[in-house]
Amino acid sequence: MKLVAGIDLGGTAINYTLLDEESKFRIEGLCEHPALSRQGPDVCLRQIEDGLKIALDKYGVAMDEIAAIGLDTPGPASASGVLSAKGSTNFVHADWAGFDIRANLEQRLCKPVLYLNDGNAGALWGHFSIFGNNPDASSVSAIIGTGLGGGIIVNGGVVKGRRGFGGELGHVLIPYQSIPGIEGIVPLCNCGRTGDLESLCSLTAITRTLLPYFLNKYPNHELSSLDNQQAAKQVRGLAVKGDAMCRDIFRVQAHALGLFFDEMVNTFDPDVLIIGGGALEAGLEFQEWFIAETKAGMPTQREEQVSIPIQVMPNGDTAGSRGAAVEALRWIQKR
Ligand SMILES: [Zn+2]
Repeated sequence: MKLVAGIDLGGTAINYTLLDEESKFRIEGLCEHPALSRQGPDVCLRQIEDGLKIALDKYGVAMDEIAAIGLDTPGPASASGVLSAKGSTNFVHADWAGFDIRANLEQRLCKPVLYLNDGNAGALWGHFSIFGNNPDASSVSAIIGTGLGGGIIVNGGVVKGRRGFGGELGHVLIPYQSIPGIEGIVPLCNCGRTGDLESLCSLTAITRTLLPYFLNKYPNHELSSLDNQQAAKQVRGLAVKGDAMCRDIFRVQAHALGLFFDEMVNTFDPDVLIIGGGALEAGLEFQEWFIAETKAGMPTQREEQVSIPIQVMPNGDTAGSRGAAVEALRWIQKR
């Protein structure tokens, strides 16, 4: 049976998965190898190859059985896998600028390599986890992490866009002034916009905007004595336990997401909306509360639109490699 490999390259670690022709994943959890990306593309590509060989040995698969490889990396990168000429915050080495990582990996491994950015790969995995290979379904995934990533799948295919910026959902502006409880807030994003989705719905948004804003309202809160970065990382855990301020912070994020999802419903009318990322790596109670708050944050929908399901993306830590593998599987199945 033919297999494809999915390779998720991050700044510090590479994660691998294997997917067979019957759409079964042969690796359940994380299968990691150090990325060494700071040492530049030559060293890092060798790491990718070495790690792949280790993974194949571990799971009893020969290199000959691998028909194609899916690769995902953080952006910005073109739709065909050329990293931005201005470089990427995740790959700190001058030689990465403008580097064609897809073509170079293909040459090194002598296998076809398909490329997605990490947000789009995660979105494709989320979509596949619900619809499998159904070619008719559409979905929008928002992945809440340090930033806000995600992607759009229309009729089974990833919307990559003209220059690879399709699905840059974090930088879509939302009418945040309509969110209750944040009067006077000025949510700045690293991209230069004020009031896009990432500026209100990400760990960066908590650190930079939401936590300082809410600590003014809760001056005696236990997090007020901590450094902002440290405090921000504790907000999710406290919110899960029911802390009032931290729930307020997550309610704002959910309402921001609700406004964004409303825009997507009216643009794509997708079959499902999917939420992924570290923010919801918590128990079912918290996930259901967050989804209910997201729905509460959506403007009134038409009767036909109200029933749109909102689901949590499973296996979040392996989403990138799984999505990349799905892209490769679809490619070999089309041929
Ligand atoms: Zn932005």
